[in-house]
Amino acid sequence: MTKLEEWQEVRPDANSSNLNLLEIASAASTSRSPMKKADESTEQFSAANALAARLGNNELNASLEIIRNLVEDAQGALTVLRLSQKLKPDSDYELQLLTRPNRAGKEELVNVDIVSKRSGQHHRIEAGTGQYSRWLDVGTGQLLSEQDLERAAKLSKLLNTHKLNESLRSVKALALEPDVAFPSLLWIRKQETGSGLSLNLLTHKTSDGQTVLRQVDIVSPYNHDRHRVEMESGRYTLLRAIGDKRGDHVLAPRAAAAFQAAFDEADRAGLEIEINSSWRSYKDQTRLYKNLRGLSPVAAPGTSMHEAGLAVDVQNYREARPYLERQGWYWPNLPKDPWHFEYWR
Ligand SMILES: [Zn+2]
Repeated sequence: MTKLEEWQEVRPDANSSNLNLLEIASAASTSRSPMKKADESTEQFSAANALAARLGNNELNASLEIIRNLVEDAQGALTVLRLSQKLKPDSDYELQLLTRPNRAGKEELVNVDIVSKRSGQHHRIEAGTGQYSRWLDVGTGQLLSEQDLERAAKLSKLLNTHKLNESLRSVKALALEPDVAFPSLLWIRKQETGSGLSLNLLTHKTSDGQTVLRQVDIVSPYNHDRHRVEMESGRYTLLRAIGDKRGDHVLAPRAAAAFQAAFDEADRAGLEIEINSSWRSYKDQTRLYKNLRGLSPVAAPGTSMHEAGLAVDVQNYREARPYLERQGWYWPNLPKDPWHFEYWR
């Protein structure tokens, strides 16, 4: 069993909310709120009351102990915990319940979190087993376990001390665990000092509105090289930012240098070369192929020069063409794809 005492947070004003809570509790018991049905057992109500009182006093360990006992009966626990939530103890902690519908379609308790409003720490009791674990909210509601946090801290250190190869290995390992990768890398980004290797996270919104981590760049602070790991395949590519270098447009290093020379020359002449598309992953190409097939010419996945980082699509291709050609870019003059340029050298 985990020692809960270790995580006790120090409370300066432990007794201040006691009275307040009792008032709420008695008000709730006399009101005609839905929680007071005739058959509601007094036992459940007093259990809810006891938990709310502990939470109200910011007694974390005692609250966890009550929950641990409650969840031995997961179904009964849900009723009691909901009652406690309704009592709204004035506390530094918040009770969060994770439920899911079971096979019969009935709501089932999965775990109970006591969340510290100050630190974002989640103290979790798993329903059924009563197992305790501690998680940290790293922002956007994503939680990291202690173990994963430890691993993230190691990677963060590697980045801050410019250990590129070890960092890449660590990011590749994370690619195998997509659920952990995103929150871990988000947390690491918050630890960046500005002098080490930095992370650039490229995401993609799925049709059901979920944000998925697609690629991770380890960016060198010196030459802006982007060491890219594709989260979907774990594949590594070295890429370099092009254009104003602030956006996500990247090419293979030799193509990037030739593009940048053209871009800078055009810029000096007062022309901004507008980039529509540059490097694409195999998965990007697959998505594009599926979406645009029949509407617009798109190379089959695995055959596009964009996947090699040796092609760029330019919106103002007419004006940009002389600059690009002077730097060795080839314009194939594809009838339905006139903005497409390739670099073969
Ligand atoms: Zn193209």
